[in-house]
Amino acid sequence: MTTLKAVRGTRDLLPPETALWNRIEATARAVFARYNFGEIRTPVFEDTGLFARGVGEETDIVSKEMYTWEDRARAQSEKPQSLTLRPENTAGVVRAYIEHKLGETGQLKKLYYIGPQFRRERPQKGRYRQFSQIGAEVIGPPSAGSESPLRDAEVLEMLATLLDELGITGWKLEINSVGSSADRARYNEILRAALEPVASQMCGDCQRRAVTNPLRVLDCKVPEDQPIIDALPKIVDSLDEESKRHFAEVLAALDAARVPYTRNHRLVRGLDYYTRTTFEFTHGGLGAQNALLGGGRYDGLSEAIGGPKAPGIGFAMGEDRLVLTLLGLETAQPEKIDAYIAPLGDAKDEAALSRMNAAGLAMARELRRGGLSVELGDGSFRLKKSFETADKVARCIVILGQDELQSGILTVKDFASGTQTKVPRAELAAHLRKPADA
Ligand code: AMP
Repeated sequence: MTTLKAVRGTRDLLPPETALWNRIEATARAVFARYNFGEIRTPVFEDTGLFARGVGEETDIVSKEMYTWEDRARAQSEKPQSLTLRPENTAGVVRAYIEHKLGETGQLKKLYYIGPQFRRERPQKGRYRQFSQIGAEVIGPPSAGSESPLRDAEVLEMLATLLDELGITGWKLEINSVGSSADRARYNEILRAALEPVASQMCGDCQRRAVTNPLRVLDCKVPEDQPIIDALPKIVDSLDEESKRHFAEVLAALDAARVPYTRNHRLVRGLDYYTRTTFEFTHGGLGAQNALLGGGRYDGLSEAIGGPKAPGIGFAMGEDRLVLTLLGLETAQPEKIDAYIAPLGDAKDEAALSRMNAAGLAMARELRRGGLSVELGDGSFRLKKSFETADKVARCIVILGQDELQSGILTVKDFASGTQTKVPRAELAAHLRKPADA
């Protein structure tokens, strides 16, 4: 029989790496709470129409990367519903915002999510078919200040804080403004005209995009095309006064908060409802897939999926890429547990052996209930094997032999210092606690 494996582009996450995933999520939750964000959990699959309208029919995601299927019809007369595994979470959040009339409170809604997303992309390092995003959205009626450049700057400042607290050094924030949809339409025509005389010297994709969607030319990665693209007109010169002022205020607030950024004139989002601020945080340690996160303002999204006017700004971070970055930066070994209890039995005396193991379990229970992380050995192990096993996983080994059981005085060895100490049972928990949490 052929052995079954995880599907291409999907992965099992195993310990000790999962500890890093948990730490990232705990840090993100703690930071989001400090900025008054609440968690939203939306379904993993949605009606396909949501993504067609909420992400955009002409995007790569919708046109070729979605996992879509027809649900079974409930009745013969009924048309089967087309369902899709979510390729991203913003559309789902905005759908929920509309469905639950969250705008009717008149307040800004600040929502974050953590969860799996699915795209049928070509797998490579940092790019998977199931991956996890940590994202957040600030959305609300204009009267709640949802269009304010302050909200953009605050989200970016929060991201800088989160990356710093995660210990991700060396990130880079790239920022741009794509203006209003009218600005973008104007710029598209300027680009189209500018591309006409040069497109024939560019790659096949660019030749096509120069006609169908000139903005997308700016995403081209073909090295030979870069000098031509760099010489094209910039979107900043097509922004109207209001968009220019909005962008200037975002940058001024970032300057005031001392959040470093680089302007990238080529950072555009090809979708109609993306407006004004767009940004990306990158990290050099990631290689080709260097984007840690991306985001921007989407003032027209709610209306595009049938909701009220609800401008918003948000981002999605690739959790897989945060993990990869931290694994590349971290030299520290995985943290060890507090103690390894080694019951010492006599392999030839089964009754004594089982009594020692039972005493070991009772001791482990007491320590674990006291908040310590404990591994329990087995009385049939030779002492040497217990020491070797313990040294790999724990800071200390506690020897529990017949003598210790009778006297109530335990032998504890600390591996880092090499010291061996006699500790009365009543003081064991306190002794094993790390100095920091004692
Ligand atoms: P996007 O929704 O395409 O703007 O992506 C936001 C972030 O999610 C990116 O910056 C990546 O960090 C991450 N991401 C997107 N697609 C993938 C993928 N296929 N595998 C892993 N991470 C991804």
